[in-house]
Amino acid sequence: MIPYSRQALDDDDVQSVVDVLRSDWLTQGPTCELFEGEVAKYCSAPYAIATCNGTAALHVACLALGIGPGDTVWTTPITFVASANVAKYCGADVDFVDIDPETFNMSPRELRKKLKQAASAHKLPKALIIVHLAGLPCDLGEIAAACREYNVRLIEDASHAIGAQYQGTPIGSCQYSDATIFSFHPVKIITTAEGGMVLTRNLELARKLRRLRSHGIERDPARLARPPRGAWYYEQQELGFNYRLSDVHAALGISQLAKLDAFLSRREFIVSRYTQELGGLDIGFQKACSDRRCAWHLCIAQIVKGDRDTVFKHLRSHGIGVQVHYIPVHVQPYYQSLGFTPEQFPNSLRYYQQCLSLPVFPGLQDEQQTRVITQLRRALAL
Ligand SMILES: *Cc1c(COP(=O)(O)O)cnc(C)c1O
Repeated sequence: MIPYSRQALDDDDVQSVVDVLRSDWLTQGPTCELFEGEVAKYCSAPYAIATCNGTAALHVACLALGIGPGDTVWTTPITFVASANVAKYCGADVDFVDIDPETFNMSPRELRKKLKQAASAHKLPKALIIVHLAGLPCDLGEIAAACREYNVRLIEDASHAIGAQYQGTPIGSCQYSDATIFSFHPVKIITTAEGGMVLTRNLELARKLRRLRSHGIERDPARLARPPRGAWYYEQQELGFNYRLSDVHAALGISQLAKLDAFLSRREFIVSRYTQELGGLDIGFQKACSDRRCAWHLCIAQIVKGDRDTVFKHLRSHGIGVQVHYIPVHVQPYYQSLGFTPEQFPNSLRYYQQCLSLPVFPGLQDEQQTRVITQLRRALAL
């Protein structure tokens, strides 16, 4: 089966991990700090805090921004469930803003409409979690302006988007947001096997994120509540978690980061071949925005005529691991039990009925892609 995505590892990656395994330090230590520094530099952000996965990164980002019971967080229905679940972890309520049918990202127009209504009902959200779907940056300018106007905190779930750019600014720089998170799961752009990171420009927020990542413990003598009685002394100042990233994982991240630009070019090449060779067919693709660089975590086709499920089955039965990203979060049984109805977000529902993720990853061979294209043509003719 040709998968829809897959990690790209080579001997350098293996060596990088082996080096740490042979060293004195396995858990979060010097290699993790190095990895944080390199991602921060790549993204032009001053602070980066590595975590054990992207969900943990989102969770501590929400907590550090003070999200808790009585608050509401808005996100998009077209995302992985984690983007919404993290608000529930904090005891907050979740609501959604429908997508733009062309970019598949949260619609800035729908957002403004909903913010206006919420303001007059005195029910504004505390924070907005946007998702750069497939690696295509959201309309950050418009969304950040709306958030500023209504005093809403902004978190970028950039799980798909390391290496992407918005108007020349790297995603992760947090020029438009309070915090940005990445996931380093094996299907994402670069991997640490499991891992994540939060980036921010705010020093206080960065300190809080570091504490929350490790049990709420503070060791900095300058920031202790009581005078330290000895070198052993530390204080748990709030309730945190064990969300650390190990140096073993970080070593893989450092070695992967060195190949990020090569990965991005390969992904871009694969997607441009799909759009060229499938251009004349009854198939739609995510709108290309000339002011943005997409990281192409996914290549999402829209089966605009014909039946997506039939196309899906045909491709799967021919060894092509197409996938559906995503089942809208609000139609999941858990969210339905909270009172959401499928028709509440019609653009997301329509998108879901038509979407199909085609294989895209650096190791996809030209000949494999030819097979995908041939079988997709056949499926559309069924
Ligand atoms: C992968 C992903 C996450 C969660 O990342 P993990 O590292 O698997 O915890 C969150 N949001 C989106 C949009 C994702 O694709």
